[in-house]
Amino acid sequence: MRPTARASEHPADFVGGLAAQSAAIVVAAGSGERLGAGRPKAFVALAGRPMVAWSLDAVAAAGIPRAVVAVPPGHGAVAEEALSGAADAFPLGLVLVEGGATRSASVRNALAAAGEVEAVTVHDAARPLVAAELFTATLSALADADAAIAAARVTDTVKEAGPDGLVVHTHDRSRLWAIQTPQAFRAGVLRRALDVGDDVLARATDDAWLVERAGGRVRVVESSPANFKVTTPHDLALAESLLC
Ligand code: C5P
Repeated sequence: MRPTARASEHPADFVGGLAAQSAAIVVAAGSGERLGAGRPKAFVALAGRPMVAWSLDAVAAAGIPRAVVAVPPGHGAVAEEALSGAADAFPLGLVLVEGGATRSASVRNALAAAGEVEAVTVHDAARPLVAAELFTATLSALADADAAIAAARVTDTVKEAGPDGLVVHTHDRSRLWAIQTPQAFRAGVLRRALDVGDDVLARATDDAWLVERAGGRVRVVESSPANFKVTTPHDLALAESLLC
């Protein structure tokens, strides 16, 4: 099962207007324990709005007509209320689905509601500073790849240490990338990559890894460290100061 694209998935105009033929999955089903806000991270108030609303703005501004949001089990009503104002921005619908036990399980649940599309872009609700252009840049990079993922160049030196704290290796940072979202996929490739056991899904810290392990071509698209993931209270304060 190689999730490389099939001939029928390579129409000549694959890239032309690809945003219009795609759907966005926004994963918002994490608990956000490290943020300690007492509610799921994606629904914490950020500059006066639920965090996930900022990402949905960028998705809509990129011209993606349909969005599926994976929300925490048991929080459907809260999520519906929080996102009631966002639906008008999506001509083909804004759908909420229940997330899964792991991030990739949430993506798999959401993909089932994405509809018949050429491409799917997956984005973490926890990256509210994403620019609309990053969605279009990653979708465009699918022209010669199965997946195209936002990534920032690593500027720190990265060393590997053993359990005893002694350094065993220094990596060549000119070849290292810190991976972000959005991650764009040919829809069939992502469907096949996610068709694995829950044990494999649980090991995936991003969806592109699932494509890599099945032999697919994954391209990095340079992004900025400004598209950071909100994990700690410090990150939340920084995002707030940048958005206000
Ligand atoms: O936990 P972490 O911050 O790495 O999660 C990244 C994104 O994945 C977040 O937007 C979070 O809401 C989402 N997620 C999810 N379902 C899970 C775990 C995380 O949708 N089971």
